[in-house]
Amino acid sequence: MAPSAAPQRTVIENVAIATVDAQDTEYASGHIVVAGNRIESLGAGKAPEALENVVRRVDGTGHLATPGLVNTHHHFYQWITRGLATDHNLFDWLVALYPTWARIDEDMVRAAARGSLAMMARGGVTTAMDHHYVYPKGSGDLSGAIIGAARDMGVRFTLARGSMDRGEKDGGLPPDFAVESLEGALAATEETVRQHHDASFDAMTQVAVAPCSPFSVSTDLMRQGAELARRLGVRLHTHGSETVEEEKFCHELFGMGPTDYFASTGWLGEDVWMAHCVHMNDDDIAAFARTGTGVAHCPSSNARLAAGIARVPDMLAAGVPVGLGVDGTASNESGELHTELRNALLINRLGAHKEAALNARQALRLGTYGGAQVLGRATQIGSLEAGKLADLVLWKTDGIGHSTIADPVTALVFGAAAPVTLSLVNGEPVVEHGRLLRVDEDDIARTARAEAQRLARIAAEH
Ligand SMILES: [Zn+2]
Repeated sequence: MAPSAAPQRTVIENVAIATVDAQDTEYASGHIVVAGNRIESLGAGKAPEALENVVRRVDGTGHLATPGLVNTHHHFYQWITRGLATDHNLFDWLVALYPTWARIDEDMVRAAARGSLAMMARGGVTTAMDHHYVYPKGSGDLSGAIIGAARDMGVRFTLARGSMDRGEKDGGLPPDFAVESLEGALAATEETVRQHHDASFDAMTQVAVAPCSPFSVSTDLMRQGAELARRLGVRLHTHGSETVEEEKFCHELFGMGPTDYFASTGWLGEDVWMAHCVHMNDDDIAAFARTGTGVAHCPSSNARLAAGIARVPDMLAAGVPVGLGVDGTASNESGELHTELRNALLINRLGAHKEAALNARQALRLGTYGGAQVLGRATQIGSLEAGKLADLVLWKTDGIGHSTIADPVTALVFGAAAPVTLSLVNGEPVVEHGRLLRVDEDDIARTARAEAQRLARIAAEH
């Protein structure tokens, strides 16, 4: 092989490593060798000597290396409607915000996506997702704008192409002009999959089929959405069992609870993950475990909207795949995922299992490997293992926020939000010393603010 064809190597040494592999292997001081876009080797002590083509050496002293964080639920467009309806529960909050959301256009969505992605990436997210379901008539190529923003940022990405076809006139919550027809939603979703979904091992962009929720979507769209996803070989995502009101709505409309409704429409399976799953009884959890249906746990959003505490310890004990989600930033204004490690741990300790609910390593697993499982990418990302894709983060743990916490995983999860010294996605640096390398954060902040003001003006005119 010609020397030029050999992969370039990055060598990280003197770093604490939490691999989050099946055995939870950790190294107090170890090395990671990245070759091209893959992890070539890792282990205790120094890297092997005489490695060729080393283009970069990183001294990881005072740092913890973990798999990059994986976000499993978000609504990017909400970046430009943060801080509104701050004292509402879910249904009142939706009713308050839908008229504004229904006025979004392509420039607004692009600015919002850039803001959402920037906030997560600078906090160690290497795989992002966006559940986008508001496609007002004539609003432009919203899916293309979102996918382009993720590509510019350099993060791995899943677009959950959402849809709504149950407007106010059909007993739903969204205004009628903001919903699509059944046929229109299915055709546009299929087109998005065909145009953007990459099924390869190192894919940077994937697409899932994602009708919004049982109370904004017809039974036909749920059922035919599931059929479409299986025909195209992509995953399925929606909101489920978020609030007691939703449970009541399902009983009134369908004569059954949300989990039974999902089962009846083809929405339980290894290729499905659902956001929230707060109000689940033992039978619901058993059904998720039996079918391999995944959960995106969004602790801050659930607290913000007073939805309740998801039974994450029971789900994990039953074998349900669970990842973490920021959720949209209209219900979690911080927009960060690394702080959700801490929030998941703390909020679950307020539930039935008290101090035994989750520990630091379980919280880290939720935010990494659990997320990869839920997105269907656990063979490729989510843990640091030779042969997997090089998506990893070096967290600074020797600064003022963490230097007196001896165990680095405890420091990361229990301590303040840890600074990101280096984040690699697909072997390429995306963040260094807390700054995004490929985009201008100030420009993103300015543009998003201008688009938020434009949206508020347009909404006020109607
Ligand atoms: Zn959501």
